Parts: sequence; structure tokens; C-alpha cells
Amino acid sequence: MEMNLKLAGKCAVITGGSRGVGKGIALALADEKVNIAINYHRSAKAAENLVKELTDKGVTAIAIQADLGNAVDCARLIDEAAGQLGRLDILVNNGGVWPKNWLQNISLEEWKKTVDVNLTAVFLTSQAFLKKAIAGEQGGKICNITSQAAFHGATTGHAHYAASKAGVVSLTVSMARELAKYHINVNAVALGLVATDMTQQALATNRDYYLQRIPIGRIAMPEDIASIVTFMVSDAAGYITGATVDATGGMLMR
Ligand code: NDP
Repeated sequence: MEMNLKLAGKCAVITGGSRGVGKGIALALADEKVNIAINYHRSAKAAENLVKELTDKGVTAIAIQADLGNAVDCARLIDEAAGQLGRLDILVNNGGVWPKNWLQNISLEEWKKTVDVNLTAVFLTSQAFLKKAIAGEQGGKICNITSQAAFHGATTGHAHYAASKAGVVSLTVSMARELAKYHINVNAVALGLVATDMTQQALATNRDYYLQRIPIGRIAMPEDIASIVTFMVSDAAGYITGATVDATGGMLMR
């Protein structure tokens, strides 16, 4: 049976969409004929190239520069995406940073930046998105990318990251409870290890350590995650809200 996700013609904004998992999600949604605004911070060229690739798939695609660590940028991102695409149905909060430092060395500045980009931005973009969705009485789907570290804690020097991602899980549940009556579904997808720029260094030095924690026995590719996110933002997943789906190859079982 072929599942019709009924995503064609919907409009999505993906934070951190220039590379890695966000790029994979953009490509998968474009395959379902979703129009897309990808957000980037520094990778202007990569974003430009991806916009071409998405446009070639026959959808409207735009790139919007915005720093998720900046509150004004977060709100502007949603405004510009809605303005340029004409409407917004889907928000994927994917952008994030994974700094490495042991607890005794994490500065307050590094802590705050991690929490700002990984957690506060999720609140700010979601707030701007939900205001539009409520005003337009159109419903919507929010999918937040979190990590197995939200549940396990960090094992390799990422306590601030793990705390920020645990915040995302809790925020997802609160938003889901509050927004269900507006037909806005809010879910999260927890990742384990995905082969992207973010993990390149860690995998080069510590591959076996990570692999032995993954029962499925391989590191995920962005496409492995993108198909799950595509389902989660579709009406086929309309009866799921407040959930964190574990897409970790079994690294996280709970
Ligand atoms: P990458 O480092 O490969 O890409 C990060 C993306 O986030 C880029 O598009 C980057 O934009 C964007 N970004 C970073 N900082 C900012 C900022 N301040 N403002 C706007 N955009 C920003 O990461 P991944 O693709 O691997 O990770 C995607 C998500 O998945 C993250 O939330 C991450 O925490 C989560 N995750 C990843 C795992 C993995 O194994 N890869 C495991 C668990 C969770 P630009 O290039 O333009 O700067």
C-alpha cells in the first residue's frame, strides 16, 4: 500500500537547513511537493545550491539568513518565510550546535550560546509560527529535532548540549498540550548518531565507541531521519502529538 502523505502544496520552514540533517529533510519534503524556506546562518553558498536543487524538484524554495542565537532574527525568519511562501503549515526546528567541553571548562558564555541556539530559538520560532497558525485558524505541524543525549545525558563532554536538548523535549510536551485545541501538532524526533559535519570529528576519532552503542550497527544518514520527519509533519501522523520519536538505531530505548 502506498501511503499518501497529502503534503503537496504545503509550505514549510526548516531551521539550519543548509547542511546535514536539515538539508536531508528539505530534500525529502520537496519530493512530497512541499514548498520550502530553508534557514542558514553562515553557509550562504550551500543554501544557494540547495535552493537550486529544491527548485529543480518543482517546488518553490527560498533561503533565509538568520542567526538562531538572535531573538529578532528568529521572529523575522518566520515572518519572511510566511511572507515569501504565502503561508506556513510546517515548522521543523532542526538548527543546532554541539560544542564539546568538560563541565569544569564550560564558560557561562558557551553555556548561554548553546541554550540560545538549541532551545530558546525553538521557543521563539515556534511562538512566531503558532501566532500565525492560530490567527489563520489553519492548524499546523511543528517537529523539533532533539537527541538521545536529552535522556541519557552526555558521555563525551556535551553537558550543556544535553541539557538544551532535554529542554526541547519538555517544551515539545508543553506546546503539544497547549496547542492541540488549535489543531497544531507538536512532536520531537530524537537522533542518535548521524553522519554530518557536526559529528565528522567525533566519528573520525571515536567511531567504534559510538557504533557499539547502536544495535542496528550503523551510523544514520540524513535520509534515515528525513523520512521519519516527513511522516511526522504529515496528516498521516495527525493523531500523534507531544511525542518524542526515537530515531537512533536503538541507541536510545526507553
Ligand atoms: P550540522 O552541524 O551538520 O548542521 C547544522 C545546521 O544548523 C547548519 O545548517 C547550520 O547553518 C545550522 N546552524 C547552526 N548554528 C546556527 C545558528 N546560530 N543560526 C542558524 N542556523 C544555525 O548538524 P546536523 O545536521 O548534524 O544536526 C542537525 C540537528 O540534529 C541539530 O539540532 C543536532 O543537535 C541534531 N542532532 C544531530 C546528531 C548527529 O549525530 N548529527 C545527533 C543528535 C541530534 P550554517 O551552516 O548556515 O551555519
